[in-house]
Amino acid sequence: MPQHRRDGQGHPEGPRFLLKPALVAAALVVPLLSGGCSPGPQGGGKAPGAGETAGVSDTAGAKDDRPLVLTTFTILADMARQVAGERVRVESITRLGAEIHGYEPTPSDLKRASGAQMVLENGFGLERWAERFYASLRDVPHVTLTEGITPLPIAGDAYQGKPNPHAWMSPRLAKVYVENIRRALTRLDPAGAATFQRNADRYSAQLEALDRELQTSLALIPPAQRVLATCEGAFSYLARDYGLTEAYLWPVNAESQVTPQRMARLIALVKQRRVPAVFCESTVSAEPQKQVARQSGARFGGVFHVDSLSLPDGPAPNLLELQRHNVETLRAGLAGS
Ligand SMILES: [Zn+2]
Repeated sequence: MPQHRRDGQGHPEGPRFLLKPALVAAALVVPLLSGGCSPGPQGGGKAPGAGETAGVSDTAGAKDDRPLVLTTFTILADMARQVAGERVRVESITRLGAEIHGYEPTPSDLKRASGAQMVLENGFGLERWAERFYASLRDVPHVTLTEGITPLPIAGDAYQGKPNPHAWMSPRLAKVYVENIRRALTRLDPAGAATFQRNADRYSAQLEALDRELQTSLALIPPAQRVLATCEGAFSYLARDYGLTEAYLWPVNAESQVTPQRMARLIALVKQRRVPAVFCESTVSAEPQKQVARQSGARFGGVFHVDSLSLPDGPAPNLLELQRHNVETLRAGLAGS
């Protein structure tokens, strides 16, 4: 039996294989906007991801009087920077590439957080590890960015019925995050209200353009082949919004554990649907999925970015590029190119 890293407490074999039928066919074709969605702040923002390689601000060591806002992971930091521009210092608690579901805060995380004026978290049960953090940060407000989003429940195993935390993976829902960030930053720094509004409007327009772009890309995949088979059940929101069928080895990385049953179910589905390629995410080992590929006759189609951005010079330096990378990886894998 293949062994896989386990973060946090593992769970015994869960009851069911997980396969979500697509709700709608993503046949809605909208013309691609040309050049309308280049990532990164315009109008003075810092390059997303800059200086974050070690989880440390690029202004560390220099005097910086701007308020410090922490986010629980790098994707939220990117979104917050898009809205904050230069007015607020934004840092992620977890580092690039970190496994974020079963994260254990370190003493240096706690020390760094002591200077923070606000923490932006995802919610939907993602940051159970942050409770200790918050307990030590009395008077520092934490704001939940999924506020207002209706969660999709996790469909099986130990997490049955709990909210799937990966709502940021739908560009449509990412706009809700942006509005929640704008409101939070405006509370923190009322004098920046107009700047935050302008930045949020611009970024939301980029997310809308991305939404149309992803629809166009995914419409190129023949409907029968629209199966997204990956390691973590992190694509439920994207699958719902873009008419994909999602299949995975485990529901959330916090209990990422391969069992013979889980693997057998995925192999059976891949064979039955003749899925040409299977995938995995950057923050966990791809070995179990490579074994699925070998045993099912599918190819291993590549690595998605979901829970963390890549390094600044990698394929997913910000959320917009992350989505493009994932969809292109999926499309190329399923097309066999
Ligand atoms: Zn995840």
